[in-house]
Amino acid sequence: MQLGLAARDGRIVSTDENKTAPLAVRGLTVTYGEKPALFALDATFEAGVMSAIIGPNGAGKSTLLKAVLGMVSPVSGDIRAYGHPVRDVLDRIAYVPQRASVDWDFPARVIDVVLMGMARELGLLRPIRRAHRDRAMDCLTRVGMEHFADRQIGQLSGGQQQRVFLARALAQEADLYLLDEPFAGVDAATEKTIVAVLKSLRDTGRTVVVVHHDLATVSDYFERALLINTTRIAEGPVADVLTPDTLQATYGGRLAQAQLAQILG
Ligand code: ADP
Ligand code: MG
Repeated sequence: MQLGLAARDGRIVSTDENKTAPLAVRGLTVTYGEKPALFALDATFEAGVMSAIIGPNGAGKSTLLKAVLGMVSPVSGDIRAYGHPVRDVLDRIAYVPQRASVDWDFPARVIDVVLMGMARELGLLRPIRRAHRDRAMDCLTRVGMEHFADRQIGQLSGGQQQRVFLARALAQEADLYLLDEPFAGVDAATEKTIVAVLKSLRDTGRTVVVVHHDLATVSDYFERALLINTTRIAEGPVADVLTPDTLQATYGGRLAQAQLAQILG
C-alpha cells in the first residue's frame, strides 16, 4: 500500500487514486428485522475534511459505520473507499467504536491496546520490536496518556479509555478515521484533546468522519455534516445543512425552539 505509506510522512499524496472520495455510499439499505435501519442512503465523505454524521437515537448512524466496515451486511447498496470495495483498503481505515459497545473488562494493558492498532502490520507471529513500542508510546503521548501505558484498560475512566482507543486508531496510521460518538460521556479536557488530535489529522490530509451527538458544537468542530434519519435528510457544508427545516426533518418535534435557536446561533 504505497499510498498509505506515503501519507504516513504527513504529506498529502496527490495521485489519481486520491481524486476518488475516501468514502462513497450509494443506495445503502440495512435491515436487522423487518424495519430498515438505513434505507437507500447516499453519502459522500470528502478528502481532508472533518465530517459529522448527525441524527437522533436509532437513526442508523452506528449502522452506517458498521456497514462501511463490513460488520453488518447490507440488503443492497454500494460502498466504496478510495474507489475500491472497502475490504480491499481496510488497512487505510481506522475505526473507534462507540465506547458503550466495548467490553472494558478484558484484561489488557493500555500499551497492548495501542499495539493492537498495528495488528495488520505486525501479523500474528512477528515479534513486536522496539520501534513498534516507541510508536505506540508516541500515539499515547499525542492523546496525553503516556503515563498510563502499563495500566489495565478496565481501570481507566471513560475519558481515558476513549483517549486510548483514539491512540490505537492513530497507531494504525490510516487515511480515513471513523469514530462513533467519541465525545459521549467524556470530560471537557478529553473532548478538547480529541478534537485537537482529529483536527491535526485533518490538517495532514486525513479524512475524519465522526458520529456526533451534540448539535451545539457541530459548527465548531466540523466543516461538513450528513443529517440522517434512516434516509439522508441533508448533506453538505455545516452552514448550509443546519437549518430549521433540516433539523425539523431529522429530529421531528424532539428539538425545542430554544435548542434550535442555540444551534443556529
Ligand atoms: P444510532 O447509532 O443512530 O443510534 P443504530 O444504527 O444503532 O442507530 O440503530 C438503528 C436502528 O437499528 C435502531 O432502531 C436500532 O434499534 C436497530 N438496531 C441496531 N443494531 C441492532 C441489532 N444488532 N439488532 C437489531 N436491531 C438493531
Ligand atoms: Mg449509535
